[in-house]
Amino acid sequence: MQSDFKGIGMTSQRTRDRLAETLIEMGIESEAVLDVIRNTPRHFFVDEALATRAYENTALPIGFNQTISQPYIVAKMIEALIKDNKLHKVLEIGTGCGYQTFVLAQFVDYVYTVERIDGLLVRARERFQKLGCTNIRSNHSDGNIGWKAHAPYDGIIVSAAPIGVPSALREQLALDGRLIIPVGEAGEQKLLEITRNQADYSEKLLDSVSFVPMLAGTDATR
Ligand code: SAH
Repeated sequence: MQSDFKGIGMTSQRTRDRLAETLIEMGIESEAVLDVIRNTPRHFFVDEALATRAYENTALPIGFNQTISQPYIVAKMIEALIKDNKLHKVLEIGTGCGYQTFVLAQFVDYVYTVERIDGLLVRARERFQKLGCTNIRSNHSDGNIGWKAHAPYDGIIVSAAPIGVPSALREQLALDGRLIIPVGEAGEQKLLEITRNQADYSEKLLDSVSFVPMLAGTDATR
């Protein structure tokens, strides 16, 4: 990684280590996930004016009325998704600034990511390129329909909350694949882990959460 991604002062290694400590206190156990969080330049994914706050365990604005996910939630979702396995293909719905996509890309062979706001996707793609990340494929489309061309996926991770689980996402899971998804209205969302079994799906409640809503259709604004 180039030296300007390493960060100084409020974006230094010590600041990142402190974030990892917070996540441990909150219950994140995977050393692999904590290591990647420690080594990922989150300040690179937000506006320069917010860089000094990049290692706080909070969501921050990324433009277009959206937010970068809280590090605890990213860690929690990825921990539940990978469970110390090396997954081949993972689908992410809601690229946003690309922070979670980049973290995921350290654990899987390929990340397929879908974003409905073109302006966010354009910037995220620039970041992946600058960081030298070559195993991310992205698409400007509505994640409610998944990304059928590359299905089935060993895992699917959703960063915006629909009212109910979109059927296309269940259908695009491989056998034993896991879907990590927040579901429900604002103020009463639940983070679910849905596993595809031979004949059906099993469901586990992971946490109470607060995500931006999953919207329909695409937005061409740049
Ligand atoms: N993990 C991202 C989260 C961004 S917020 C990050 O850390 O930056 C959630 C994102 O989901 C937003 O960018 C929003 O535009 C996107 N989104 C909402 N509904 C969507 C849909 N139907 N299809 C694709 N993306 C969607």
